[in-house]
Amino acid sequence: MTDPQTEIPIRAPAATSADDTILPFEVATLDLRGRVVRLGDDVDEILARHDYPAPVAKLLGEAIVLACLLGSSLKFDGRFIMQTQGDGPVQMLVADYTAPTGKVRGYARYDSDGVAAAVAAGKFDSGTLLGEGHLAMTVDQGPETSRYQGLVALEGNSLEEVAHEYFLRSEQIPTRVRLAVGEEMRAGPDGMRHRWRAGGILLQHLPKASDSARVPDLDPGDAPEGMTPDDVEEDDAWVEGRALVETVQDVELLDPDVSAERLLYRLFHERGVRVFRNIEVDAQCSCARENVEALLKSFPQDDRDHMVENGVITVTCEFCSSAYVFQPEDVGAKVTS
Ligand SMILES: [Zn+2]
Repeated sequence: MTDPQTEIPIRAPAATSADDTILPFEVATLDLRGRVVRLGDDVDEILARHDYPAPVAKLLGEAIVLACLLGSSLKFDGRFIMQTQGDGPVQMLVADYTAPTGKVRGYARYDSDGVAAAVAAGKFDSGTLLGEGHLAMTVDQGPETSRYQGLVALEGNSLEEVAHEYFLRSEQIPTRVRLAVGEEMRAGPDGMRHRWRAGGILLQHLPKASDSARVPDLDPGDAPEGMTPDDVEEDDAWVEGRALVETVQDVELLDPDVSAERLLYRLFHERGVRVFRNIEVDAQCSCARENVEALLKSFPQDDRDHMVENGVITVTCEFCSSAYVFQPEDVGAKVTS
């Protein structure tokens, strides 16, 4: 995660990280490491672009925060992809984070009637919206490298609970995550409008933490054989850390006036907390015309021919809604009538 040379000595709580940044921290006396993420314009840009029903937008916002917290913890460069698949009204959520650029993006697929019915019934918590299924976490480091995958069951739990379950079972790392997504009213050129904000904190207990933090490599094969979650020791340091992070209120993760530093100071000042250089997040899609073209050319002839509509092939990026229009001959397709 953080090069020790870029470490910054304890900052006064008055120092503030801006929106759309991730702030790594360490509480050495308790063997705790973690990070705080706060998203303003970036998460608003992603969620507002899609115009999802509010509960779907909120859920995708949580997934984006989680992708930032986990993706920025990885020790290598590449894309960290989180994807849910479930039988609830939100059939799929995809959120990915690319290191080291901090690019983040996401989208949701959902059943409008199902979401509307859940809202009408007053049961639209994240567990109900996702239903039963699984959450897959993949690391893509380019075409020549393996993609590691971690899988965890969705059993009607929140994304926070799913993350705890994953780290306990697959990584044996005691972990607590808090995620928050909310709307604020802000004045803009066209009058007042709602804007999305999001934030989160990840806390992990790493008793033998060296300067290079132990981070999940998403290989469940790492777990020592015969070890069950019950064997994870919960020593006093972790009991204290977990209790502190459980006091974090949504407003502390969302309010622009409560900086990441102020939150960390509130939680850990008695034990001593130091922060590392923060990482900027950027809501930018990585889709590109040449990649779409290459993808189209990789499809069988028959499939390409069937994609021609009104004389052209149009591909819309699900992440950013960019539309790429190709003439059939550009990608070797024939116009069939
Ligand atoms: Zn895109």
